[in-house]
Amino acid sequence: MKELALFWHRRDLRLEDNLGLTAAYGAGNLVLGVFCFDPIEFHPSKIAPASVSYVLDSLRLLQQAYRAQGSDLIVVQGDPRQQIPRLAQALNIQAIHCNELVEPSRRQVDQDLAKQLQSLGISLQRHWDALLHAPDTIYSGSSTPYTVYTPYWRNWLGRTKPEPVSVPDLMPVASTDFQQPLPTLADLGFVWDAPHFLAPGTAAAMARLELFASRAIERYETDRNFPAVDGTSSLSPALAWGTLGIRTVWQTTVQAMEQANGPDAQAGITTWQQELAWREFYWQAMYHFPSLIDGPYRSLWQRFPWSDDRSRFAAWCAGKTGYPIVDAAMRQLNETGWMHNRCRMIVASFLTKDLIINWQWGEQYFMQTLVDGDPAANNGGWQWSASSGMDPKPLRIFNPYTQAQKFDRDAEYIRQWLPELKSVSAADLVNGKIAPLWRSKSNYPEPIVDHAIQQREFKRLYQDLKAAIGD
Ligand SMILES: Cc1cc2nc3c(=O)[nH]c(=O)nc-3n(C[C@H](O)[C@H](O)[C@H](O)COP(=O)(O)OP(=O)(O)OC[C@H]3O[C@@H](n4cnc5c(N)ncnc54)[C@H](O)[C@@H]3O)c2cc1C
Repeated sequence: MKELALFWHRRDLRLEDNLGLTAAYGAGNLVLGVFCFDPIEFHPSKIAPASVSYVLDSLRLLQQAYRAQGSDLIVVQGDPRQQIPRLAQALNIQAIHCNELVEPSRRQVDQDLAKQLQSLGISLQRHWDALLHAPDTIYSGSSTPYTVYTPYWRNWLGRTKPEPVSVPDLMPVASTDFQQPLPTLADLGFVWDAPHFLAPGTAAAMARLELFASRAIERYETDRNFPAVDGTSSLSPALAWGTLGIRTVWQTTVQAMEQANGPDAQAGITTWQQELAWREFYWQAMYHFPSLIDGPYRSLWQRFPWSDDRSRFAAWCAGKTGYPIVDAAMRQLNETGWMHNRCRMIVASFLTKDLIINWQWGEQYFMQTLVDGDPAANNGGWQWSASSGMDPKPLRIFNPYTQAQKFDRDAEYIRQWLPELKSVSAADLVNGKIAPLWRSKSNYPEPIVDHAIQQREFKRLYQDLKAAIGD
C-alpha cells in the first residue's frame, strides 16, 4: 500500500525541478503539499508586502497545479513546530520532506521540529535544493569554508552541475479536512497594491528566464551596470522564493553558452553565472558563519561609532536625501519592491559612509521592502557595502555623483523616479547641482549631508577606532 508523505514548501514554491519534492515520492509515496504562514517570519518587521504578495499569488498557482493532478497544497497559519506535527499525526504521515534554508532562525525551527517529530516516530528529511552545490560540499584547500569569493567561484565553477530533477505525476490523494482558504494580504496584516515586479508562479518565471537567456544575457557584461536599461534578468523574486529551480536556471545558461554569438556574448553569460555563484557564496557564508545575521563579520566593526540619527535615516528611506541618484533608487524600491543592483550598492554606501548609519538598519529596511528579500544575499550585500564583511577591501566608498555620471549619464533613471525634477538638465541631476529655485519649486530637499565632509569624517572615525584597538 502506498504511504502518504508530506512536502513542506518554504522558499521553493514550485513542483518542477524540486529535489525535496522528488525525494518525497522516493519510495512510491503519495504526496501532499503544505505551506505554513509562520507569524514570526511573515511579520512586517521581517518581510516586505511585495514579497508576501508574490508568495500568496505564487501559492495560489501552486495549489492549482497540485489540484490539477488530484493532490492538494494545504495552507495553514501558525508556528510550524505546532502545525506540521498536528497535520502529520492527523493524516498518519510517517515522513515529511523539506528543503534546507540557511538562516539560523529557520534552522533552529527545523531542529526543534525534527526532534518533536522524532518523538512521534515521524522523520523530517531535509534536502539541499536551493543551491547547485551544498555548503557542506565546497571547502578551500585547507578544508575550511571559503571567506573570499574569487577562489570559491573557481572551485564552484569547476564542479559538475546537477541536472534538473523531474517530478513524477502527482497521485490523487483523498481530500483532507485541513484545507483552509488562502489568506489574503490583509488577513496577514500587509498592504500592497502595486503590480508584481515579476509575475508570480513558475510559468512566468520560466518565460522570463527564456527571454533573458535568448537575448539580454549576451549583453549582460555591460548592460547590467546601467539602471535605466532593462539589462538584468529580473529573476530575483523567482530565485528568492523558488518559483524556479536552480538546476533549470543553470541548464539554461549552459544552452545559452552553446549558442553564444562570440566572445562578448560568452563573457556576458559567464558574468551572469558569477552572479548565481555570488548567491551561493552568501548562502554558504551564512550556513558556516551563522553569527553574520547578528552583526559584522569583522569584529572591529562591532565597536564602530555609528550615528543614531533617525531623521536622516527616515530621509534615506523615503528617498529625500537631496542626492538624486540615491533618492531615485529608494523611490524605485518603495514603489516597486525592487531596486537595480548598481543602485543597491550606491544607496548602501550612502547610508553607511555618508550618513554613517549602521548597515543593519539598511539591511532590515531592505528586508521590509524587497520582493526578493533573501536574508543571506541581503546580509552579504550590506556587509560588502559597509566593509564589515568577508570582502578583503578595507574601505569602499562610493561617490554618489561619480556613480551617477558613470551609470546614469543622461539622468534617464533619475528622471523616471524623480518626476518632479524632470525639467532639470541631465548634467545638473547627475552632479546634484540643482538650482535653489528648482528645489523649492519641486519641493526637492537640499542635500542632507555634504559628501566630501562625511567621507573625511567616516575615514577619521575608522582610523581612530583602528588606533584605539591597536589594529
Ligand atoms: C545592499 C545589497 C542588498 C541586496 N539584497 C539582496 C536580496 O535581499 N536578495 C537578492 O536576491 N539579492 C540581493 N542583492 C543582490 C542583487 O542586487 C540582486 O540579486 C539583483 O539586483 C536582482 O536583480 P536581477 O534578478 O535582475 O539580477 P541579475 O543581475 O539578473 O542576477 C541573477 C541572479 O543572481 C543573483 N544575484 C545577483 N547579484 C547578486 C549578488 N550580488 N549577491 C547575491 N546574489 C546575487 C540573484 O539571485 C539574481 O536574481 C543585494 C545587493 C546589495 C548590494
